[in-house]
Amino acid sequence: MFPKIMNDESFYKKTVAPGGEPAIPPPNDHQRSGLRFARRVRLPRAVGLGWMFFPISAALVDQSVAGGWWLFLVGWAFVWPHLAWQLASKAIDPLSREIYNLKTDAILAGVWVGVMGVNILPSTALLMMMCMNLMGAGGVRLFVAGIVLMLVSSLVTLQLTGITVTFGSAQLEWWLCLPVIVMYPLLFAWVSYQTATKLAEHKRRLQVMSTRDGMTGVYNRRHWEILLRNEFDNCRRYNRDATLLIIDIDHFKSINDTWGHDVGDEAIVALTRQLQMTLRGSDVIGRFGGDEFAVIMCGTPAENAIAAMSRVHEKLGSLRLPCAPQVTLRISVGIAPLTSQLGHYREWLKSADIALYKAKNAGRNRTEVAA
Ligand code: GH3
Ligand code: MG
Repeated sequence: MFPKIMNDESFYKKTVAPGGEPAIPPPNDHQRSGLRFARRVRLPRAVGLGWMFFPISAALVDQSVAGGWWLFLVGWAFVWPHLAWQLASKAIDPLSREIYNLKTDAILAGVWVGVMGVNILPSTALLMMMCMNLMGAGGVRLFVAGIVLMLVSSLVTLQLTGITVTFGSAQLEWWLCLPVIVMYPLLFAWVSYQTATKLAEHKRRLQVMSTRDGMTGVYNRRHWEILLRNEFDNCRRYNRDATLLIIDIDHFKSINDTWGHDVGDEAIVALTRQLQMTLRGSDVIGRFGGDEFAVIMCGTPAENAIAAMSRVHEKLGSLRLPCAPQVTLRISVGIAPLTSQLGHYREWLKSADIALYKAKNAGRNRTEVAA
């Protein structure tokens, strides 16, 4: 059985039907990021189009258009943003669907520019809004594609409806456009800020996941070795004391076999906490895998490391695991001080490993120093 942290059973319970087959396949990464993308576009679209209803209405009054256009306007401003979200959220590929929605936005914006007779202020406000959405969502490529679509659809609309281009805007249209010109960039900036904050948090979590051991929270072996290499170089350059320790739980297999893997996991976590409590904050603890840990002690000679380990041995002697109080945790420790003979950090590691085997062969539950 895997540690609970890696095995969220409730996740499977939600998605697996009684027959054992997945009821709804869980979304993959591409779908998830597509959904996030569609969600980001949802609010600016709903607010922007909803507000544009007013200046476009004022322009349509000037144009005295047929009733069907009014119906179309209500549908575009108040129904389309929600329909676009529904279409994207239910699509197999929400990202492609949302790009398609944005292109539809551009075509419809072009239609309104044409129907308004290119009434300059509402047209500019609408085109500016679309350009921000297109550039923000899909970069230069989508922006250029959107511009072409807006241009073509406005020209086609003008051609088909026979509406004359007037350009001029009345005072009322000016006032109705002002809120959207001021507020929309602010709303867009706010949505971008939210996205940037989420991305930064996501990056921080990824960094933790890639450097830490999932079960204990100490460094994983890969990252710990990078730190070891740095410390090796630094301590050699500045001629500082440093000691390397490898720690392995004695007869850990029999703890697993007798008490189960959950108790084994608990023992691993208990040893980690004991090391964290007993050692200095500056000591670099890593989990090597299984029941093996390693510690870099910078500025610490071997005698001090031995003293620290005897405190750990002592504390473990009285430590009781809540799930299995009968278990006594014992560890073997190999210690290697940094010496001038060591030419590479891997030799240092090897030296500590040899000391650990010496401790195991000498009867376990002890600390041995490399010769
Ligand atoms: P020794 O005294 O010589 O160290 O003997 P040992 O039984 O401790 O042997 P060893 O160190 O090789 O045992 C490691 C075992 O740890 C083998 C593997 O089944 C178990 N193990 C590895 N990772 C995990 C884990 O994350 N959780 C649990 N519960 N067990 C693990
Ligand atoms: Mg062991």
